[in-house]
Amino acid sequence: TLILAIETSCDETAAAVVENGKIIRSNAVASQIDIHRRFGGVVPEVASRHHVDQITVMVEEAMNEAGVSWSDLDAIAVTQGPGLIGALLVGVNAAKALAFAHGLPLVPVHHITGHIYANRFVTELQFPLIALVVSGGHTELVLMRTHGSYEVMGTTRDDAAGEAFDKVARSLGLPYPGGPEIDRLAKNGKAVIDFPRAWLEEGSLDFSFSGLKSAVLNYLHNSRQRGQSVKAEDVAASFQESVSDVLVKKTMMAAERFQVHQILVAGGVSANSNVRQKMTAAANRRSIPLVIPPLKYCTDNAAMIAAAGTIGYLKGMRADLSLNGSPNLAIEDF
Ligand code: ATP
Ligand code: MG
Ligand code: FE
Repeated sequence: TLILAIETSCDETAAAVVENGKIIRSNAVASQIDIHRRFGGVVPEVASRHHVDQITVMVEEAMNEAGVSWSDLDAIAVTQGPGLIGALLVGVNAAKALAFAHGLPLVPVHHITGHIYANRFVTELQFPLIALVVSGGHTELVLMRTHGSYEVMGTTRDDAAGEAFDKVARSLGLPYPGGPEIDRLAKNGKAVIDFPRAWLEEGSLDFSFSGLKSAVLNYLHNSRQRGQSVKAEDVAASFQESVSDVLVKKTMMAAERFQVHQILVAGGVSANSNVRQKMTAAANRRSIPLVIPPLKYCTDNAAMIAAAGTIGYLKGMRADLSLNGSPNLAIEDF
């Protein structure tokens, strides 16, 4: 199966060609990070305009680099949602036009299933598995009993993990996106500040990061008011430690509860070095196989959308030319 995928849900314009759901033939990504940085975050209108600017360039690059022609393809997959509506629409409309022009089936993909399937570039998935999805907009524990089956066992009640990283970074005066900045800063700090960890009710697989975020903001505010100097490295390390602690313990709780054969970590925050280290150690201790994508496949790309789209294609999922972007798409429908 040869699939061309398109991804424009947020601030990466991406196109990729993937074979059999796991062999990357090409992976073109145009990131808008530098454009949004001066605004301190993604500006939706600006993102849409740049997607329009880059989409045909990325598709051409992906097709050329893969060295395939349109008649070699089995289908075109596209991120239907969730994401920014104006951003999604650029990819959806490009995919519809290409599918129509070349007489190819159109396969809708849920963005988060893409993040999960980025792990298939590392190794074959073993079911049942639990996937910890930690990205800019999501924090979820997803149980998969087979390919293309997604059950959300826990989710965040307020902020997503990546969102917390970005907000805390901002309060420390660091540029957008804050996750990598905190990661870097934390390497020179010590986790000496006792920030809270939200465990919620006994046995809960849900998450909450807004209390932690407020605790960091209060700490900074109080220190400044008292004229005490703040060691930003220690704040970053302590915050990161608190996030990792909760993510790792809840993932292990889920892994044991559902007796999984594999743990996956997915989404932008899976690039975090502390999360990767702690998760690896915890999984090793329990002898549960752990998979985390290489750094470049942790954040948004179209190869992961093609990988998930291949499963959708084989399941017979199809969209017609009335396909619309869906900002709040549910993963259970995929
Ligand atoms: P979603 O996938 O939920 O729709 P998104 O696509 O915007 O949201 P991703 O691209 O998966 O999110 O990830 C971006 C997020 O990952 C940002 O919040 C960013 O700060 C965070 N991130 C990236 N690298 C790191 C890192 N090394 N440590 C912590 N967070 C990181
Ligand atoms: Mg992004
Ligand atoms: Fe994403």
